[in-house]
Amino acid sequence: MIMKIEDLSINLATVRQQWNLQEAVEACARHGITAVDPWRDQVAACGLAEAARIIKANGMRVSGYCRGGMFPAADAAGRQAAIDDNRRAIDEAATVGAQCLVLVVGGLPPGSRDMPAARHMVADGLAAILAHARASNMPLAIEPLHPMYAADRACVNTLSQALDLCDDLGEGVGVAIDTYHVWWDPDLAAQIARAGAANRILGYHICDWLVPTKDILLDRGMMGDGVIDFRHVGSMIEKAGYRGLVEVEIFSAENWWKRPGDDVLRTVIERFTAIA
Ligand code: ZN
Repeated sequence: MIMKIEDLSINLATVRQQWNLQEAVEACARHGITAVDPWRDQVAACGLAEAARIIKANGMRVSGYCRGGMFPAADAAGRQAAIDDNRRAIDEAATVGAQCLVLVVGGLPPGSRDMPAARHMVADGLAAILAHARASNMPLAIEPLHPMYAADRACVNTLSQALDLCDDLGEGVGVAIDTYHVWWDPDLAAQIARAGAANRILGYHICDWLVPTKDILLDRGMMGDGVIDFRHVGSMIEKAGYRGLVEVEIFSAENWWKRPGDDVLRTVIERFTAIA
């Protein structure tokens, strides 16, 4: 996969400790980066209309909007609240001009040990928001998360599982493929090909898997510092027909979040063009 700076999008969580939305978007523009993926809290901090204005004024494309999901809840009222919140997330994503709404589907409700029930709640939640997503022209990108998050963040843990959900739901839904979450999967090649054949690849997120990983959420690596073969994964993604933006998404409490944001962006650009 040839990766040029025009293909690069910055997930704004990567610089969330250094900059607010406006500062981050302006910094990206300064570095020649032409796409971002903002988070709801970053947008809420400046206001939705202002966020949309900032993004537009800086000529940014929006590779995705983070995030919706979190469907399972202990009771019906909780599940309905999640559905309502996802409908708002769809509206926000449309307002900022996002190419898709990224979904982290949620794990076990508090007190539950029933994984099959949680997975049912996810399927039901997706079905409940799909009509609104379609009417809003906002594709829903299910992001399977590494199985270590099954309890607390996402009970959809493989591309195969996400694509089965897509098959059941039909149009308007696809997957976000994040190397951090799927690199280990022995079925990765077949499932990326399957996703491509069904036109389901809505996003490609990259960061590296460090050895050792000291914190499962907040110790993600810069490309090249870990064990993921980006050239290999990228070639599978390309072969599957994906020609969209490549989003760098690094949560790094002890390393990259502590460095000056401009250094982080400079390093991202260097590594991004080196791993092609
Ligand atoms: Zn991701």
